[in-house]
Amino acid sequence: KVIQPEHSFKYADLSVRLAGPEQLQPKPNVSALSFGKYFTDHMLKIFYHEALGGWQIPEITPLENLVLHPASKVLHYAIELFEGLKAYRGVDGKIRIFRPDLNMERMNNSAVRAGLPTFIGDELIKCCCRLVSIDQEWVPHSTASSLYIRPTLIGIDPTLGVASSESALLYVILSPVGSYFKKTDENVGVSLLADPQYTRAWPGGCGNYKVGSNYGPTIYVQREAAERGLQQVLWLYGENSEVTEVGTMNIFMFHINDDGEKELITPPLSSGLILPGVTRNSILAVAKEWNQFKVSERTFCMDEVCQLLSENRLLELFGAGTACIVSPISYIEYIGRPLHIPTVEHSEPVYKKFLKHLMDIQYGVIPDHPWAIPI
Ligand code: PMP
Repeated sequence: KVIQPEHSFKYADLSVRLAGPEQLQPKPNVSALSFGKYFTDHMLKIFYHEALGGWQIPEITPLENLVLHPASKVLHYAIELFEGLKAYRGVDGKIRIFRPDLNMERMNNSAVRAGLPTFIGDELIKCCCRLVSIDQEWVPHSTASSLYIRPTLIGIDPTLGVASSESALLYVILSPVGSYFKKTDENVGVSLLADPQYTRAWPGGCGNYKVGSNYGPTIYVQREAAERGLQQVLWLYGENSEVTEVGTMNIFMFHINDDGEKELITPPLSSGLILPGVTRNSILAVAKEWNQFKVSERTFCMDEVCQLLSENRLLELFGAGTACIVSPISYIEYIGRPLHIPTVEHSEPVYKKFLKHLMDIQYGVIPDHPWAIPI
């Protein structure tokens, strides 16, 4: 539901209720951080009630359980969406968030698709910055770790009709996360299950929105991969087994094209099958700026992957997302065929250049980059 900008909530109205000393939680050791297990002391909440004029004032409160009516729409029809971005403590001690404007744009697009109310992205960014600043001691003092920010928007109408929700709750929680890679993984690469019987998204569906209902059904397939000793799922679509995404990441292929040139490709957003990743967008922009090889957004299929591999023209395959920035791929099991991908075998792979460049922006090694917003 598109809300006119003048009816958005505003940062200027934010109220803050701090946790008492007895409510503060001990901070976990960063080396022991598994994803999304620990949460900081505070959260942000903004209610939306059509009957009360729409968006209410934003509030920062101690982290606490939500009270929801058992008929709440989110609990029955998954009327919900979320975002994921991170705050990084830079080498200069300053805390920055990375391209939050793109997360806000994606969140508002998801809200429209889910029939939930939109808002001014900048107002939520300002509220998030205040929340991070209140809980700033939770931002790890390490360039291998960060503070994950999880904005969530849920439909909370206590009515069972499959219809848009007249009330909603936007909340933000924060979770310190450790290095995504175990010490050596950055140079090892992940193994994938590519099984054409499963698909994550389809034309006309919601694959290009970050709605919770895209994620629940992937758990079963992820377990199937794990049972075969494989780490993640390579998501395929259609009769030609188009390569779409990997796990919860966008995918890139670096190869030697038919003209003998090096070319980086990733599937286009136009199909509606692909989540418009912030990392994907950033890698495309950086690659175009470097201008060292051709960069294209185009569809590719498993046949092309197999063909390039057999001709030694497939150089690198990697996933890209906020969690680990880039994740090299070393192995794919595709309908019983083992495919060894040489991503980590090159002396100066491009995936590592992207990883270093984006981390240098996030951790302030490259000072004052316009993508890194100080909180
Ligand atoms: N694809 C999917 C399905 C995802 O869930 C994510 C994580 N948001 C991504 C790609 C990567 O997006 P981003 O770079 O914004 O983290």
